[in-house]
Amino acid sequence: MTHPLLDLAPLSAARFASIEDRVARLLGTGQDVVITQGEALLPLEGAIRATAGPGTTALNVITGPYGQTFGDWLRDCGATVYDLSVPFHTAVTAGQVRAAFAEHPEIDFVSLVHAEAATGNTNPVAEIGEAVREQGALFYLDAVASIGAEPVLPDAWGVDLCVIGAQKAMGGPAGVSAVSVSERAWARMAANPRAPRRSYLSLLDWKERWIDGGRTTLLHAPAQLEMLALEACLERIEEAGLDAVTARHRRAAAATRAGVQALGGGLEPYVRKASEAAPVATTLRAPADVAASDLVARALESDPALPLAAGGGALAKEMIRVNHYGPAAAPETVEAVLTALASALTAASGADVDLPAARAAAALAWR
Ligand SMILES: *Cc1c(COP(=O)(O)O)cnc(C)c1O
Repeated sequence: MTHPLLDLAPLSAARFASIEDRVARLLGTGQDVVITQGEALLPLEGAIRATAGPGTTALNVITGPYGQTFGDWLRDCGATVYDLSVPFHTAVTAGQVRAAFAEHPEIDFVSLVHAEAATGNTNPVAEIGEAVREQGALFYLDAVASIGAEPVLPDAWGVDLCVIGAQKAMGGPAGVSAVSVSERAWARMAANPRAPRRSYLSLLDWKERWIDGGRTTLLHAPAQLEMLALEACLERIEEAGLDAVTARHRRAAAATRAGVQALGGGLEPYVRKASEAAPVATTLRAPADVAASDLVARALESDPALPLAAGGGALAKEMIRVNHYGPAAAPETVEAVLTALASALTAASGADVDLPAARAAAALAWR
């Protein structure tokens, strides 16, 4: 008996290469794209370990939990790391990045998260990229939560290492990811004696044994199900048009924000400026007298499938995440979230909420 997920024909090197080409088109990049067979943390870690060493001076921008992790990896590689932390309710500015360069002119590596699904902010990468180019530093970008939700343009922005995953706004699988690599980044890796080689974390292995060989022989068996799912999700985005997919996410964020503001009951957008709020997910600040995790638990009682979560770690008390990405970037989902939050607020604190106003505001913002 055949099974749709089993008994598949082998995935050829040519098919693997064609999926890489599609990812390159999605990113509008002429750089090499390496598909990595693991969750996005694989290329995120691999790219840092490949490029950073004791000679590296890094500016690590922290606008959420991933920035903290990158700083840990950089230090583990022996790099000198200057952390630039901004409060999670805001974005970092190019001016702050320039000020860090002025203070530490030896900075030659910058790590930045584009959009943070965990904290709901998005950073102005184009402007920051300009500053990084002037500095001549290598630019590493985590675009996992931005790809599909807003423009991601590594070539135009001068990004040397742009990491993406399919599981957020692309609406795809979590077990496969990709990174675009500039010539400068390859050169930095080749010159780094500590760069992983003959290792699952190694990007250089893929350069030397896959790309330089004309992409004819894969390094190991391809993760077939994930690759097929990635291909299907790229096809779906190409059919709808990337602009339409990003517009859907932008609308979901605008509708959620407007709906919450009209709802009242003490709930408010966590990221203060709409221009700094990520299209991939909207974070909310719970009223002072109610724990965010309690509100989320109540809201999920009515519909466990809603894309709601409390913030991670210490943020669980005050932050609610509305993960309106992928198929959840839809007007019905936004409306269902507002409805569930309204009942949860009333039940938890007897708050006075205006659900009809919230629905109307969300519908208007969606348009
Ligand atoms: C989601 C996400 C990742 C991937 O990590 P998981 O939590 O394992 O899904 C990486 N970086 C950012 C900014 C993300 O939002």
